[in-house]
Amino acid sequence: MSIEELENFNIDAKMKELVNHYAPKLGFDQDAIDVFFDVRSTIDTILEKRDARTKAREWDHVGVKVENGKVILPKDFEEIVFEIVKDNQLYSFFLPEDLGGMGFGNLFQGPITETLARHDISLQIMVMISLSVIEALVQYYKPHFDQTLMEFAEGKRLGYVAFSEPGAGSNLEAVKSTSELVGDEYVLNGTKVWISNGGYANTGLFLAQNIVNGKQEGTNVLLVTDLDGITPLRVEEKSGLHVSPTAQLQFENVTVPKENLIAEPGNGYRKVLERLMGMRVGVSFQGIAAAKRLFQEAFSYAKTREQFKRPIIEFPIIKQKLVEMMRTIPRMEEYGFLAGYTLDRYNKGWIPTDVNAGGKEGPEKQAASMVPGAVRGGLAHHYVSSAKLYTSEVVNQIAYDATQIFGGNGFVAEYEVNKIMRDVRVLAIYEGTSEIHDQILQRTKQATAMIPNFKRLYSTFDGSTVYERIMFERFPDVKELI
Ligand SMILES: Cc1cc2nc3c(=O)[nH]c(=O)nc-3n(C[C@H](O)[C@H](O)[C@H](O)COP(=O)(O)OP(=O)(O)OC[C@H]3O[C@@H](n4cnc5c(N)ncnc54)[C@H](O)[C@@H]3O)c2cc1C
Repeated sequence: MSIEELENFNIDAKMKELVNHYAPKLGFDQDAIDVFFDVRSTIDTILEKRDARTKAREWDHVGVKVENGKVILPKDFEEIVFEIVKDNQLYSFFLPEDLGGMGFGNLFQGPITETLARHDISLQIMVMISLSVIEALVQYYKPHFDQTLMEFAEGKRLGYVAFSEPGAGSNLEAVKSTSELVGDEYVLNGTKVWISNGGYANTGLFLAQNIVNGKQEGTNVLLVTDLDGITPLRVEEKSGLHVSPTAQLQFENVTVPKENLIAEPGNGYRKVLERLMGMRVGVSFQGIAAAKRLFQEAFSYAKTREQFKRPIIEFPIIKQKLVEMMRTIPRMEEYGFLAGYTLDRYNKGWIPTDVNAGGKEGPEKQAASMVPGAVRGGLAHHYVSSAKLYTSEVVNQIAYDATQIFGGNGFVAEYEVNKIMRDVRVLAIYEGTSEIHDQILQRTKQATAMIPNFKRLYSTFDGSTVYERIMFERFPDVKELI
């Protein structure tokens, strides 16, 4: 492959193709697709105008502080977030049409938030998590949630998700936090760790044991709409994502109205968490965004850095790394888009028969009873876990190569590839580790077997990239599954 072919790689071509392919299948018309592209370009303009990418490297040094129980972020970081969510009312597009929204879901969430992640993944996290809170309120809708949803749309709210605890990471059912109905209110207590946006965002989901007459009866997920009774004990010092607050939060007798319960009592983990997969799609797009930036940076460095009197791109072993990146990025996008699409279909109660599985095309609502819910859920889990595992593992290999192309400079914090390398390491850890997604894929094998003519996205890996080969060596069973 020639350097010209690398030069001609249109980094957004696949995204455009996939949006136009999947959006009509979800019932979005051309106007809605145009709105999607407008939203994306508005965000991009804001970020370019404010030079967010350059600032992100400054934020990387400054980080986050806790002062007098308040989480303090860099001022210009906050300004960008509020310009996007308040001045431009980003979240309004994700509200149902009944509430004046456009009904955007995960298919659009991924590529919209990808524009943020291309400048800074911390910025994407600050904006993206709210979409997961909104998704929970929409999926388990009751009129009581209208006010909170409208306040999200107006940019008065930012979201966090408080699930993990010191003893409950991968195994969230083991949380020790409690929620107990006392009169008309739930009383919440417990300590949460690693909470992104924690102590800063004002609207969260809280996972706790459901305590009835002193006994544990399943788990609850509750909506918490203010910060009273919540203390940020500390924010973690991390190897990457320095400006994304990852907080330890203490909840002390926090009270919420009983209507703030999402779904039925005792069903929190099994019902709500099992469905709350939007953030996994968002993380997949963090990986896609990072891979694109790593390619762009490494390519331009390789063309300009000279050694032995030649630009280093002329060394075949360097050029080949860029070729592998270029071939892998569109495949990452195929996984990411298919995950968003399948999840949206599942959330709508539609049968995803057209997902590479033969059957009828089109967005018509079919009788959910034709395919058992477990199979539909299984398929959504299948594609979401495939995307999360694939993109997060592969982007770490791409980061390794991009750093290598930068030589010594790749190890210097001020270079963007170095920052991205540090930022992406956690993509394979949060929102379910790769090992956990590997296990989910084993479980969903049964569901995919029940879909007639089910085909995997890539049924053969003849053209696999070096990154895929590394991934499949590390997760051997996955080769047969995704
Ligand atoms: C920057 C950051 C932001 C985060 N944001 C949030 C947030 O906003 N909200 C929130 O609730 N949480 C958040 N988390 C927590 C995150 O989701 C957990 O760290 C993650 O789920 C893993 O849990 P753990 O760290 O306890 O690891 P553990 O569960 O202790 O796992 C340790 C190792 O064992 C492996 N392992 C565990 N169980 C199995 C198994 N059954 N089979 C095979 N291997 C296994 C894991 O894959 C991992 O390699 C965040 C974490 C970080 C680092």
